[in-house]
Amino acid sequence: MPYSYDDQNIFARILRGEIPNKTVLETEHTLAFEDIRPLAPVHVLVIPKGPYVDYAHFAAEASEAEIVDFNRAAAEVCRLTGVTPGAGGEGFRTVSNAGVNGVQEVPHYHLHILGGRVLGRMLPRE
Ligand code: 5GP
Repeated sequence: MPYSYDDQNIFARILRGEIPNKTVLETEHTLAFEDIRPLAPVHVLVIPKGPYVDYAHFAAEASEAEIVDFNRAAAEVCRLTGVTPGAGGEGFRTVSNAGVNGVQEVPHYHLHILGGRVLGRMLPRE
């Protein structure tokens, strides 16, 4: 089934400048900004500027330039926020939720970068 992108989603509106954001980094193809309801001292969302619904959509249809730019920008956000291990930071977690089981709230692909405290196990064991 082809991906269907809703251009009224909140991150599309942020990209169009209709809603303010606290930008951490902007590159040619990528925007990174602070999450409005942070779950950790560092909680940054990294999004491609292109209209991709989730990780699978982005990986399948984004150009190589977009994919490289996105990944380099995400790593740069880790460096800028001081969480990169080996560069003086104490570590981080990246999370990308997709679809119903992933409990994705905003249907524009985004990577959460979380850090600044010990985050605990990835998921509770059931
Ligand atoms: P998801 O559940 O889709 O992976 O995560 C969506 C994230 O977007 C949530 O962590 C939520 O706090 C954040 N968010 C929702 N609306 C806004 C907004 O208007 N501005 C910002 N900066 N973050 C938002």
